[in-house]
Amino acid sequence: MALVNENYLKLQGSYLFAEIAHRVQKFKAENPEAEVISLGIGDVTLPLPQVSIEAMHKAVDEMANKETFRGYGPEQGYAFLREKIRDVIYKSRGVDIEADEIFVSDGAKSDCGNIQEIFGVDNTIAITDPVYPVYLDTNIMAGRTGLVKEDGTFEGVVYMPCTAENNFTPELPKQHVDMIYLCSPNNPTGTTLSRDELAKWVKYAKENKSIILYDAAYAYYITEDDVPRTIYEIEGAKEVAIEFRSFSKTAGFTGTRCGYIVLPKAVKGYTKDGKEQALNPLWNRRHTTKFNGTPYIIQRGAEAVLTEEGQKQVKEMVGYYMENAKIIREGLASLGLTVFGGVNSPYVWLKVPAGMTSWDFFDKLLHEANIVGTPGSGFGPSGENYFRLTAFGSRENTLKAVERIKTQLKL
Ligand code: PLP
Repeated sequence: MALVNENYLKLQGSYLFAEIAHRVQKFKAENPEAEVISLGIGDVTLPLPQVSIEAMHKAVDEMANKETFRGYGPEQGYAFLREKIRDVIYKSRGVDIEADEIFVSDGAKSDCGNIQEIFGVDNTIAITDPVYPVYLDTNIMAGRTGLVKEDGTFEGVVYMPCTAENNFTPELPKQHVDMIYLCSPNNPTGTTLSRDELAKWVKYAKENKSIILYDAAYAYYITEDDVPRTIYEIEGAKEVAIEFRSFSKTAGFTGTRCGYIVLPKAVKGYTKDGKEQALNPLWNRRHTTKFNGTPYIIQRGAEAVLTEEGQKQVKEMVGYYMENAKIIREGLASLGLTVFGGVNSPYVWLKVPAGMTSWDFFDKLLHEANIVGTPGSGFGPSGENYFRLTAFGSRENTLKAVERIKTQLKL
């Protein structure tokens, strides 16, 4: 009798996007003339930077020749890409990371989900609430949680609510936790953690022998100078933090797939008998055993993003989305709505009008303005009464959507 991993049965269905699709479909069937615009998408819409296209074309041609053909590459990524990441992302900000502390992958989703495999199953995890659901779900699968409770939280998990009341800054847990997931800029709230806040977490992690799992997938969207681009700008972080990065939102690689983990050699976990164990070799073992490398062609495309011309092109791309974010943020604020995010992030997080739930507001926005967004409650219990709009649409649709919200939404 093949037993199943019953932890999977604890998972909640991916109710959020299925329910959104269902409600939109029903609305369209009942209102065939309505032109529905989505500001709910978390996917980019602009094409890849020209530098990447050229680099990938060249790489394809190399694959056509016996002399330049490449088969399996190093599982951790080619040196040309790891060294570029070291220099352009880290050294340029005064952070010394070695190339062998960087592991190239097929994206941050896999990395955020897989990293927990090198940790003990008895560890306690802490997550900010609301947040990107992958951190929690992969820990449920691994058996690090109990069952779901009536309020939608899982037993055995430390939730750190992030709402307007605490300025979206998670409080240090009162109890000891072993693995701390932080995401800055945050999906969905669009808010960031300051240098001082991050320093508190690094101190906590050192004192508690915990590890910070830091998701910086949206780092390129930070516009304010004093917001850290990487956790390693904080002193001591290289001993307690693992960072996740992605070319997805940075350079339009959502369908092209490339990301990376930074795991400094000084980051240590512990064996049951209290001995220190560096995590870098464990991840190296895991990665090389279960992953055969990001395609050469894709790595060449990613490398091109990190050239001077590539950086110029992605700045323009990010700037386009951030202008959309400004249009959404200012448009909603002009109606008296309370908005957060959208300054260092492509996500605008708004407080729904008093007396409404996130889903009430979803229906109102769809029915009155024919706009689709994402109910905050889908990202965790503390997302209730909030709503996410994204800046990844076209300028034309963004302008049209905001105009409709201004003129048709009855507030
Ligand atoms: N981390 C966060 C916070 C995200 O919002 C996303 C995607 O939406 C990812 C990671 C996944 O990125 P990737 O496309 O690199 O898998």
